[in-house]
Parts: sequence; C-alpha cells; structure tokens
Amino acid sequence: MTDKILVTRSSMPLLEEYIDEIKDIWQSHWLTNMGTKHQALQAELRRFFGVPNIDLFTNGHMALELSLQAMNLQGEVITTPFTFASTTHAIVRNGLTPVFCDVDPVDFTMDVTKLESFITDRTCAIVPVHVYGNICHVEEIERIAHKYELKVLYDAAHTFGETYKGRSTAAFGDVSCFSFHATKVFHTIEGGAACFRDEEFGKKLYQLKNFGIKNEECVDGVGANAKMNEFCAAMGLCNLRHVEEEIAKRGRVVARYRERLAGVPGVQLNPVQADVKPNYAYFPVVFEEDVFGATREEVADALAAQGIGARKYFYPLTNTFECFHGAFDVEKTPVALHLSRHVLTLPLYADLELRDVDRICDIVLACRR
Ligand SMILES: *Cc1c(COP(=O)(O)O)cnc(C)c1O
Repeated sequence: MTDKILVTRSSMPLLEEYIDEIKDIWQSHWLTNMGTKHQALQAELRRFFGVPNIDLFTNGHMALELSLQAMNLQGEVITTPFTFASTTHAIVRNGLTPVFCDVDPVDFTMDVTKLESFITDRTCAIVPVHVYGNICHVEEIERIAHKYELKVLYDAAHTFGETYKGRSTAAFGDVSCFSFHATKVFHTIEGGAACFRDEEFGKKLYQLKNFGIKNEECVDGVGANAKMNEFCAAMGLCNLRHVEEEIAKRGRVVARYRERLAGVPGVQLNPVQADVKPNYAYFPVVFEEDVFGATREEVADALAAQGIGARKYFYPLTNTFECFHGAFDVEKTPVALHLSRHVLTLPLYADLELRDVDRICDIVLACRR
C-alpha cells in the first residue's frame, strides 16, 4: 500500500525559519491590526509584483468582495462561471448582478469575442478570471473596458508569480486580487491581496477592511473585518523567500506530465501561452471520452481507487449553484458547461515525486477502453 496522494499539498518553510520569523511577535505583543509583519510583507510583495499599490487581506475572497464594494458600483457585472464560488459570490454579495460570458475553449478565460455582446447601459464592470494561471486576453479586455468606461477587476488568485510581456499580472485592470490560501502557489495560511492603480480607491479599501473606520471618531463606510494577522504575514515572509524555487519544482512536475500526456488523442492540456512566465499552479486535463476512451469520472474513480486525489475543478459552474435558484441560463455558457463536465485537475505540488507523476499517468492512460 503506497501513501495517498492528494491533489495538492501546502508548501511550508522549515519550522525553525518560521519560529525565527515570529519571535518578534512575542516581544511586541502586537498580533494583528497592521503590525510590523503585515507592513513588511506588504512592502516585499509590492516589490515582488512591481506595482505601486497593494493591500493585504484575511483571504482572497475579502480582497475581491471589498474591492468591488470600494468601487461603489451598481447594476451588472460581466464575469465567467468557470471559476471558484468566490468570484461570483463577491459580485452577488455586493448587490450586483452577474452576467455570465462564456469562456475561450483553449485557455478557459473570458471569451473576449463575446464580451461586447453582453454590455448594456446597466453594465458597470468586468470581472475576468485568469483560470489555472492562464492569462486573460488582457489587451482586448482593456480596450473594451476603456471604450465603454467600465471598471475591470481581475480575479488573479491563480497567477502568483506570473508575468505577461514582463509585467506582473498584479498590474492589470483597475484592481487585481490574489489569494494566499494554503492551497495556492504562494500562501500565508489564509490570506489575500488587492493590487490597484488609484490611491484614493486604496484609502477606501483600507477602511473597508477595518470596519469602515476612517478615524477614531468617524466611521463612514459599512466595512467588514478583513485584516491579515501577524502570524499569517510571518508565514508569507517565509514562503516568499522560497517561492521561485517552489515554482521551478512545480515546473518539473508539469514538464513530466506534459511529456506523458501531451498529444494523447482526446486529451486537452493547458495551453502554453506566448509571452507568459507561468507558475504551474494547476494541471487540468480535459477528457473527451469519445476520442480518449474513458470519461473524466472513470479517470477520477480509477485514481481514487489507488489513493490518488484528482479534483473536478471547476465543477459545478457557478451559474448552476443551488443558491441562485435557477436564475441563470447555463445554456448561454456552453463551452464552460462542457469544460466543467470533462475537466479533472491532477495532483500537483512542488515535492510531488516524478515517479508518482508516472504512476498517475499510467493509471490515467490505462483507463482507455
Ligand atoms: C482561491 C480562489 C479564490 C478565493 O480565495 P480565498 O483566499 O480562498 O478566499 C477566489 N478565486 C479563485 C479563482 C480562487 O482559486
């Protein structure tokens, strides 16, 4: 019996490194509310991303939700349903109406050839998602947003460490939001960040993550509590020192998967995008059963039988969630629907052994009838 392999495994610094990092917290007794660790991580990330403005949050979701709130929007937001619950929930929890655009069949991000057809006089913003670290068609999105004077907020949760034409993904749109959840390429246990252009917006956003408090005697926003604490920031400081090495190790795993699975009939992999420095965040495989000879379900079951976790990510589509009571017509996003029914993300983390990658590929390929 071999050990179970989960779909992901959080990277961790050496225990000693983390203990060293949190020692000052025992000196200061300052545990949260924008202490020195928070400030240090913010400064390090600003440098890492090469952006002028960044703020940290308890998680990626609050970065998204409060960024939308700080934009003070009303009406419709064009987004995609092939994403994590968080993206759509951030829109709906702000009292905004999501309008679902279909996704590109090659890179799974917003299909920009359809985007304009969804714009009405109620549209206020576009919320695209860099799915699996595939960069959205940012130039076209920017052109359209500019033409119709729409705000753009990127869900950049999957893109930590990526650049497009040499620029960090943190630099696109009015705001780009990251997740530093334990399962992401870079994490702070739980955490997130918003990178943004406008400093005035940043002030509003900063207040909203601290209950809308402007100063001791003035609360002028209905904010939440979304401050990253010192222990999470300390974890981030440690992980950031090793993130490039983590990404390189992930790259080795992905290269092995590609060697084994690229070109197999009925199998679609992530595209290799031009001008992109990738972060190897996920390894999605789309199985076309007619050609491949097995369904995604059969592959998932075969892996599970050997103690290997693969994830139907993203399934179900957010526009089919029970909580929306059929408000959205899933037939309007047929490409996303097809992908959600055929995709499986295979295990991927920095220390995944290449012989385990081979074993996973053997099991996948043996599913063919
Ligand atoms: C992880 C993730 C989020 C939410 O981030 P949390 O830090 O878990 O709140 C949002 N969008 C996408 C696409 C994600 O993968």
